[in-house]
Amino acid sequence: MTSIFSRIIRGEMPAERLFETEHELAFLDRHPKAPGHTLVVPKLEVAAFDALPPERAASLAATLQTVARGVTRAMGTGHYNLVLNNGERAGQVVFHVHFHIIPRYEGDPFLERGSSRSLPEVAAGIRAALRALPQSERVPGRVPED
Ligand code: AMP
Repeated sequence: MTSIFSRIIRGEMPAERLFETEHELAFLDRHPKAPGHTLVVPKLEVAAFDALPPERAASLAATLQTVARGVTRAMGTGHYNLVLNNGERAGQVVFHVHFHIIPRYEGDPFLERGSSRSLPEVAAGIRAALRALPQSERVPGRVPED
């Protein structure tokens, strides 16, 4: 069955898209645990991280670095959790591999909390930060228009 993330990748479902490479897409989580909570997803639809071909896992890691730079610069914090839930008992709900980048803030009690800023506003800030990254700090990819 087609995952919800494959539908986002194909443009069949709306999302605040942030960065796209040949093999990955980054977009905002629609239920953010903190402002700027971002998902990075391989376009290849597999459920388990270890089912990714090694070259796709490597390219996912490189894209994660680029997106994390954009997210942290836009959100004004260098602190974040990088989370992958693999399997139902690990909390995986969407069975299409994805990393969460969850920014952490001064005074953050490390508890789940919603974002007080709207998703479009947060997304525009992250896209601007990604556009501003020098070539040396980003993998080849495209930042969608606002
Ligand atoms: P996980 O528990 O790691 O499988 O997390 C799945 C994440 O996907 C959750 O944080 C959801 O809020 C997020 N999510 C589910 N559907 C969408 C969607 N259509 N757009 C953006 N994020 C989504």
